[in-house]
Amino acid sequence: MGYDERFGQQPRVGEDDSLHDECGVFGVWAPNRDVARITYFGLHALQHRGQESAGIAVGNGETVRVRKDRGLVSQVFTDADLTAMAGKCAIGHVRYGTAGGRGFDAAQPHFSLIDDVTIALAHNGTLVNTDGVRSELEELGVPFRSNTDSEVACELIGYFTKKSGHLRVGIRHAMQMVEGGYAMVLLRENALYAFRDPNGIRPLVIGALGTEGWVVASETCALDIVGATYVRDVRPGEIVRISDGGILSEQGIAPQPEAQCIFEDVYFSRPDTVIRGRSIYSMRYEMGRQLAREAPVDADLVIGVPDSGMPPAEGYAAQTGIPFGEGLIKNRYVARTFIQPTQEMREMGVRMKLNALSDNVAGRRIVMVDDSIVRGTTSKQIVRMLKEAGATEVHVRINCPEVRWPCFYGIDTDVQKQLISANKSAEEVCEYIGADSLAFLSLEGLRRCVPECGYCDACYTGRYPVTIPERFSAGKFLDGFTPEFPYDDGSRPGEKDAIANMELDAPAD
Ligand code: SF4
Repeated sequence: MGYDERFGQQPRVGEDDSLHDECGVFGVWAPNRDVARITYFGLHALQHRGQESAGIAVGNGETVRVRKDRGLVSQVFTDADLTAMAGKCAIGHVRYGTAGGRGFDAAQPHFSLIDDVTIALAHNGTLVNTDGVRSELEELGVPFRSNTDSEVACELIGYFTKKSGHLRVGIRHAMQMVEGGYAMVLLRENALYAFRDPNGIRPLVIGALGTEGWVVASETCALDIVGATYVRDVRPGEIVRISDGGILSEQGIAPQPEAQCIFEDVYFSRPDTVIRGRSIYSMRYEMGRQLAREAPVDADLVIGVPDSGMPPAEGYAAQTGIPFGEGLIKNRYVARTFIQPTQEMREMGVRMKLNALSDNVAGRRIVMVDDSIVRGTTSKQIVRMLKEAGATEVHVRINCPEVRWPCFYGIDTDVQKQLISANKSAEEVCEYIGADSLAFLSLEGLRRCVPECGYCDACYTGRYPVTIPERFSAGKFLDGFTPEFPYDDGSRPGEKDAIANMELDAPAD
């Protein structure tokens, strides 16, 4: 689980309170279908990626209409809202944010007026150099409604589009200007665009609605729910445009060494999502088996911490022959605890959400499998809960390595000093959480359980695929921790041409 541990104080972009999201995006182009309802259900499938706010924008051939607000998808939209949003294409967004980023203006899609054309943008990820970009845009007279990096991207696209007269040129030049991890969907009145960062850090897939249209989404589970068939991933650096003219692809920016977020496989994505032909469930099950090979223990029952700890717990049990059973019951009607901003609220959230099943755990030696330990507070509470319910021993097994480095590409991990494994050895963490033993899956072991491709694993290794400007990371690293940027070719973020001086290419068609 670890949801509540992973997210705390907001990272800052330079000196402002910019927002950083783990979000879900969805888009559909299907002129003869109810695109607003398709988007609604797509967002439902992606709700695990963000519960703070939800929004849908619809293009009806003449203009773009946006409805968004704080809350779950089911709270933001009524049946009447969806009925009123008829159109031929749509995008949607679910957002995770913390204190300081809960206002309406931080909700997405963002929209921008380019002369008489409205565009709407939905973004999953974090841009690491938008502080400078924003200042430049402000100097050029562009107004902002929020502090989000996503709005900076939206306005940057708008600026270049206005200057060139072509939206695709606007997107392409914005991609060349911004740095970080992003998967974005953009809408105008008659077309849908989807594009992805050049390392492919954040996920984005394309699906077909038979012959009726196309869908793009953060995860394949959102294709399934709307009856779409997976076609392929949006490629790193690619721009996909879907309109009456069909589906077109162009390279917005040259691809860089692939660095797909490995935490998607460990924790973020839904178990029924498929990445590179393999379900997340099967990967997590394998992680459990590998964990059992690396860190076996004599015990009576293997339990998982719901939900993402369940598949690796099953794998651990299968590998060891120790019975698998339920040891923790989850209240499914409590919102995921990581949306709660204070430590006190988080701790209350754990108690509201989980309870030990004493019938199963009393008098038994328990192996408790979970997906990560970030601050350690949740693990500590769960171990205590199990012992109070009568467990004689609690052995904690984590299906990924120690999280020791902050993430700058769309995940709200804490500053490094709040990551327990950056500050304590595994033995000290074990003592802190009150477990009888603790083991983490090795990085080599984790890589054996996921498809072969280029991954970002910076939160375990400190090897970051995209260079982080010092202004962005100021105060985030502990003394003695020096991040590595193995793909840095010397053109560091923030050293781009000035926005006003950029020469714009002709459109690709
Ligand atoms: S640092 Fe970690 S969470 Fe962030 S993109 Fe890389 S693997 Fe994912």
